[in-house]
Amino acid sequence: MIFLEKKSLKLYNTFGIESYADFFVSVHNLDELKQALFFRKEKSLDLLVLGGGSNILFTQDLKGLVVHLDLKGKQLLSESNGKVQVKIEAGENWHEFVLWSIAQGYGGIENLSLIPGNVGTAPMQNIGAYGREIKDVLVSLEAMEVSTQEIKTFSHADCQFDYRESIFKKAHKGKYILLNATFELTSENHKYTVSYGAIEAELRGKGLPELSPKVISEAIISIRLSKLPDPTKIGNAGSFFKNPVVENEQYLRIKKDHPKVVAYALGEKFTKLAAGWLIESAGWKGKPLGNAKVHAQQALVLINNAKETGVNVTGKEIWDLSEAIIQDVQNIFSVRLEREVNIH
Ligand code: FAD
Ligand code: NAP
Repeated sequence: MIFLEKKSLKLYNTFGIESYADFFVSVHNLDELKQALFFRKEKSLDLLVLGGGSNILFTQDLKGLVVHLDLKGKQLLSESNGKVQVKIEAGENWHEFVLWSIAQGYGGIENLSLIPGNVGTAPMQNIGAYGREIKDVLVSLEAMEVSTQEIKTFSHADCQFDYRESIFKKAHKGKYILLNATFELTSENHKYTVSYGAIEAELRGKGLPELSPKVISEAIISIRLSKLPDPTKIGNAGSFFKNPVVENEQYLRIKKDHPKVVAYALGEKFTKLAAGWLIESAGWKGKPLGNAKVHAQQALVLINNAKETGVNVTGKEIWDLSEAIIQDVQNIFSVRLEREVNIH
């Protein structure tokens, strides 16, 4: 276990932003994690835990210790009545876990295919796509309290999941390190969600094959590959903003002035607005600012425009672009966009 000094984080964030950590360590087991926390305490350092770096924006160098969590392992806990419970360590790659579960014949997370990042981070923001969220399958998770190093089990209810939210982004922000998660998947009688986004059209294009977790996963992978920039080629962190949720009265006011607004009812009182539509309507789709740019195929995604400008983007440039978008959307629609990406 080596503590590196002045370590570049360029390869540890999918924006590909150059930022330096005062100290950096990769940990592979709980003993190493405890040693890292001891090192941090002795030197009174700030702490940043890093998974796959796919939901993070570094706007400055990091004063303190970056702990790259590399805990690996999968365990089948139980199997009965068409249901299985599996416990997955935090450092496992999320999409590899999805592919593994599909190869075992398990269902439940196929709609969450090709989401970058690690299993340990996925519950933090209740990752979601195509009508499914991790909260639909998560049973519990274990996390280490940073201040005491005690390991606590959080039930589904303890996690306080919400739309792209959990208690770990709110009241417990920065207080716990998520170590592993237990999921309940189906081994038979799978329940599918296909009436979302472009899934049905994609399946029609493939001749309406018989549904299975594998068929749905492949359809979603194909849609995502056609729309989203590959972070290994164009730096990005997925959707930079959340879809704003507004009261129905506000939605109706917006619709009066902008009849084409894309929106979805959320229960009886609220409406979810498609942030991508708001940004596109504000004229930002495909537009650059400095070395940052709004992706031409998906206005919710901000990209590192190094390929076109020849200069790597800075975190501040991405931040400035996001500020300009927030301001314009606010001025036009009186809606304040919230960032989904974690700013450090
Ligand atoms: P990181 O970026 O490493 O960390 C994110 C935050 O969590 C940081 O603040 C970090 O300090 C903290 N953290 C990391 N690990 C831990 C831990 N074990 N304990 C405590 N804190 C921790 N998200 C979706 O919900 N749906 C999508 O469809 C989706 N598509 C995407 C597509 C692309 C191309 C990209 C680049 C991103 C996409 N995302 C999506 C966002 C991202 O993949 C998820 O948020 C993912 O869960 C982030 O995981 P990570 O390990 O990369 O997190
Ligand atoms: P899309 O299918 O073009 O849809 C645009 C927006 O409309 C999405 O944000 C989605 O909301 C919403 N939507 C579509 N169909 C809906 C339905 N039947 N009911 C309710 N809401 C609906 O979106 P996309 O950009 O191609 O992304 C597809 C899925 O992948 C979405 O679920 C999206 O959240 C997810 N994704 C997330 C990220 C990320 O970084 N967070 C990045 C890429 C894709 P929701 O976003 O609430 O689902």
